Amino acid sequence: MATNRTFTMIKPDGVENGHIGGILNMITEGGFRIVSMKLTQLTVADAQKFYAVHSARPFFGELVEFMTRGPIVAAILEKDNAVEDFRTLIGATNPADAAEGTIRKKYATSIGENAVHGSDSDENAAIESAFHFAGREQF
Ligand code: ATP
Ligand code: MG
Repeated sequence: MATNRTFTMIKPDGVENGHIGGILNMITEGGFRIVSMKLTQLTVADAQKFYAVHSARPFFGELVEFMTRGPIVAAILEKDNAVEDFRTLIGATNPADAAEGTIRKKYATSIGENAVHGSDSDENAAIESAFHFAGREQF
C-alpha cells in the first residue's frame, strides 16, 4: 500500500560535523513535515539488522562501525510521494555523483560517510519507522 511517509536518519558524521540544523532546514524547506524525531544511537545489533540487505558486501563491517560510532537523528517525514521525493532530495549515495542542491552534495564527505539515510520503498519506510518509534510518538 502506498503511503506518504518515509524514514530518515542523520548519520553519525552529519551529527558530529554539526549539520543537524542545516539538514533539518533542507528537509523542511523541501516540503516535508516532521512526524517523529529523536536523537538516539544504534547498537551493533541494530545496525546489522537495519542494513542486513548489505551483510554480504565488503563494506558491511565498516558500515556497521560507522553507523554505531555516535548518535544519529532518526525521523519520520511526511509529504506526497515521500519515499521517492526524499531520495531525490538526499541525492546519490556517493556525494561525487550527487546533484547540486541535494543534502549529500552539501554535507556528505564520502560514499560511506554520506550524512543521511532515506528509505528505498514504502514497505521499508514502514518497517524502519516502526523500528524506531512507537505509535504514540508519531504525530
Ligand atoms: P542509505 O540506505 O543509507 O539511505 P543508499 O540507499 O543511498 O544509502 P545503499 O546502497 O543502501 O545506499 O548503501 C547503504 C549505505 O552503505 C550507504 O549509504 C553508505 O553509507 C554505505 N555504502 C554503500 N556503498 C558503499 C561502499 N562502496 N563503500 C563504503 N560504504 C558504502
Ligand atoms: Mg539504502
